[in-house]
Amino acid sequence: MSPAGFATALERVRAGGVDPADLQQLLEATDPDEIAALHRAAYAVKLATVGPVVHLRGLIEWSNRCARNCLYCGIRRDNAALERYSLSPEEIVAAARRAHSFGYGSVVLQGGERQDAAHADFIVRALEGLHEATGGELGVTLSLGEQDRAVLRRWREAGAHRYLLRMETSDRGLYGRLHPDHPDWEQRRRCLDDLRAEDYQVGTGVMIGLPGQSAASLAQDILLFRGQDVDMIGMGPYIPHADAPLPPDAGVFDPREQMRRALNMIACTRLVLPLVNVAATTALQALDEAGRERGLLAGANVMMPNVTDPTYRSSYHLYDGKPGDDEDAEACRRALERSIAALGERIAYRERGDSPRARARSR
Ligand code: SAH
Repeated sequence: MSPAGFATALERVRAGGVDPADLQQLLEATDPDEIAALHRAAYAVKLATVGPVVHLRGLIEWSNRCARNCLYCGIRRDNAALERYSLSPEEIVAAARRAHSFGYGSVVLQGGERQDAAHADFIVRALEGLHEATGGELGVTLSLGEQDRAVLRRWREAGAHRYLLRMETSDRGLYGRLHPDHPDWEQRRRCLDDLRAEDYQVGTGVMIGLPGQSAASLAQDILLFRGQDVDMIGMGPYIPHADAPLPPDAGVFDPREQMRRALNMIACTRLVLPLVNVAATTALQALDEAGRERGLLAGANVMMPNVTDPTYRSSYHLYDGKPGDDEDAEACRRALERSIAALGERIAYRERGDSPRARARSR
């Protein structure tokens, strides 16, 4: 059977269809008119489900110490070129206060992956300190990799309520090749089930444009998000890092092509999961100054401005060209406000911004 035309595939997916061949066709769109139609359709869904608003999460990159050795990542264990740092509890609280004073309704605490007991205890104290300093008004997302269920429970009790754990890819073979020292995809997926069982709002995501990843594989990623019934998605283009061993897709890095893939993926994800939060991530901004805004217009509804003290930012380079090392958080907030207003949208200050899916779940 020959594949349906683009318009037919778009119509079917818009109407709730999840045929992988249709999704693949949309993901592969290169014609500017087709791309525009895809993004418009996704943006219309975003307007209908979350409205003309953007929710912000202040991103706190608390530590670049990592026990893992992911082939793509700039803070991998074996990157000896990197100066390692961890924020003190006071510095984490200061970053949270900064986000709170800007009116951001939530923060994300992200760092390298560690499974030791001292780390688990530290995060409990950081969560308690952060809530105490901000009157319990901030939503808190953790993004700290795979953890035991007992640890996840302690962090939940200490006041984290969302958790972002990207599966990175739904392709188990590719996952194994990217993570030679922890190739067990199913173990990571089980962690998503644990997060749900421990009453977190659950987020996942993938990297887009990995070497060896096809559009068919990205279509399966979307079906995985749907199968896990997640509340939020954080995903962005794969961008090589000079001190990490993974090469670019097809050997040569093509930022425009990565951008095309990433935006089509965001749009398809929005069409299939109308009620989830979708982040326009920093990696989009690394490829294009207006990348996050383009992400919004393709159906994303969340942005994560960095509130980490700029002193540490250059040591948290997951990929090359990460923007914002010297940016002043307040100037960045104002710039974001302007660029969002220019799209006819507004920032929803002082709201946690749970996804419609998560709100429906808690009712
Ligand atoms: N260690 C935590 C979170 C820190 S890494 C965890 O494992 O969840 C956060 C995300 O950055 C990763 O999930 C990965 O998808 C992304 N990332 C890492 N290296 C990248 C690269 N080279 N290009 C694009 N994204 C990358």
